[in-house]
Amino acid sequence: MRIAILSDIHSNLQALDAVCEKIDGLGVDSIYFAGDVVGYGPDPNMCTSWVLNNADVAVAGNHDFAAVGMMDSDSFNSNARDAIQWNARQLEADLSSYLISLPMIETRNGITLVHASPRFPDQWEYIFTLWDAEENFTHFDNTLCFVGHSHQPVMVGVDPEGSVAVVPGDKLVVEDGCRYLINVGSVGQPRDGNPDACFGLLDTETSEFSLVRVKYDVSETQEKMHREGLPQALADRLSEGR
Ligand code: ZN
Repeated sequence: MRIAILSDIHSNLQALDAVCEKIDGLGVDSIYFAGDVVGYGPDPNMCTSWVLNNADVAVAGNHDFAAVGMMDSDSFNSNARDAIQWNARQLEADLSSYLISLPMIETRNGITLVHASPRFPDQWEYIFTLWDAEENFTHFDNTLCFVGHSHQPVMVGVDPEGSVAVVPGDKLVVEDGCRYLINVGSVGQPRDGNPDACFGLLDTETSEFSLVRVKYDVSETQEKMHREGLPQALADRLSEGR
C-alpha cells in the first residue's frame, strides 16, 4: 500500500492541487493528513472540503482549532492572527463542524499521526532539536510517527541501542528494530528555504519512505491573497519558502 502523508496545507489550493496531481500519478492508495488545513492562505473551504472527502485519517492542527474557537489565537503573531480570523469568517458551518470533530492524535495501520508532538499533542510543541525528538520517541509505540507543525521536513531515527540521529537526504528504508519520527513538511507554506510544496510518501510493501517536492504556481496564491486583503508578508514568504 502507498500512503501519502500531507500536513500544513494552510488554505493554499494551488499547492494542494499540484500535490493531488502528483499523488494521482504515484498511484497512492490512502491519504493521511497531519493537521493545519486552514490559516494563512485564501481557500479555507476548498481545502477543508478536500481533506474531509479524501483523507482516510486526519488530525487537528493549532490553526484548525483556532479557526473554530477550540483555542484562542493569542499565541499567534499578528499576521497569523489576522489570517486565521479571516479564514474563520469564510468557513462554512459543516466544514467548521468537521474541524471541531478532528482528534489530536490517531493511530492507523501501525502509524502514529499527530500535528505537533506525540508527547504533548494539545500543547503544540515544536520538535526542532535531536533532544526534542529523543524525548518524543518514548511517547509513541509504533515504528513510524508522522508530524507537521514546523513546516520543515526532517527524518529522525532511533536504533535498537537508543541512538537518535537525523536521516540525511529525502529517502529512507525502515530498518528492522529502528523507529522513526518524521516531519513531512508543509504543502501550503514550506519554511525550509524551498518554496515547492512538500509531502511524505510511504510504501508499506517495500518499507520505503520519501519526501516529495512539487512545484506549483505560487503567484496565483499570492494574487488571491492580495485580492482578499490577507497580510502581504504571508504572501511574500511563499516565494522564499520561509
Ligand atoms: Zn502550520
